[in-house]
Amino acid sequence: MKFTVASRGDTLSDELCDTIKTRLLAADLAHDSETPDIVITVGGDGTFLEAFHSYAHRLEETAFVGIHTGHLGFYADWVPEETEHLITHIIKTPFQIVEYPLLEVVIRYRGGQREPRRHLALNESTIKSTEGSLVCTVEIKGEAFETFRGDGLCMSTPSGSTAYNKALGGAILHPSLASIQLSEMASINNRIYRTLGSPLVLPQHHTCLLKLLNDVSVQVTIDHFNVPVFAENVDTIQVRVAEEKVRFARFRPFPFWKRVKEAFISE
Ligand code: NAD
Repeated sequence: MKFTVASRGDTLSDELCDTIKTRLLAADLAHDSETPDIVITVGGDGTFLEAFHSYAHRLEETAFVGIHTGHLGFYADWVPEETEHLITHIIKTPFQIVEYPLLEVVIRYRGGQREPRRHLALNESTIKSTEGSLVCTVEIKGEAFETFRGDGLCMSTPSGSTAYNKALGGAILHPSLASIQLSEMASINNRIYRTLGSPLVLPQHHTCLLKLLNDVSVQVTIDHFNVPVFAENVDTIQVRVAEEKVRFARFRPFPFWKRVKEAFISE
């Protein structure tokens, strides 16, 4: 089996990565950062998200597992003290795989001036105006639903529902629900402008299309990374549940609701 390790870059994470690499090489596993079967991240959820994007082109062949060297992570859910245990499990492959849904985002430009760009998000994608209000129509399954006016919109995956989506008042969704959630950022609601005003959950195969109506410059993010867009020329953003899934290497149960409780309520 081929593995690679990804560190946040601090001393503790670097040292743990070195230990993991040494132990796995000694057990005759091959280190391969180009085409790994398993990626072990050490750091936090940010490190995990970066690693996910580095291997997003080969999700069917790559499994991920994360150790957190800071506070409990949602993706990085192993503690450094469990490293030996994790190494032993990895050496004893095969391991169980758990799959979570992803968000597909397609950005199209006005007049077809530029090629559409497709992205995958593990947490969410956001669109925000960088000057004044964003005005866009929201179409669901090809039907006009509402016209949004406000700071922006967030489209999240179920596993990303505990991240930025939660800060926007979105619901927490179990990752077994192949769906996406649309939540608003400061929508303008009065007698003239009207949006639903509450988060919306769409099932698989229900495409949501945002069509920009005003001439504002926009910022588009995928998992909080800025996507280099031609900001003034974005025409539409299409989102839906992706065909691809992220694959987690599972070596012990850590139920989603337990993770939610430990992160937000109590240990
Ligand atoms: P970061 O790496 O500093 O992460 C910010 C926090 O979000 C960390 O505590 C991280 O553990 C947590 N986080 C990340 N993914 C999560 C998930 N799926 N469920 C619960 N918590 C999660 O920030 P970054 O690299 O700029 O962005 C990474 C992610 O952090 C973004 O995709 C975004 O969802 C989230 N974030 C949330 C807020 C917020 O809640 N207001 C603000 C910034 C970023």
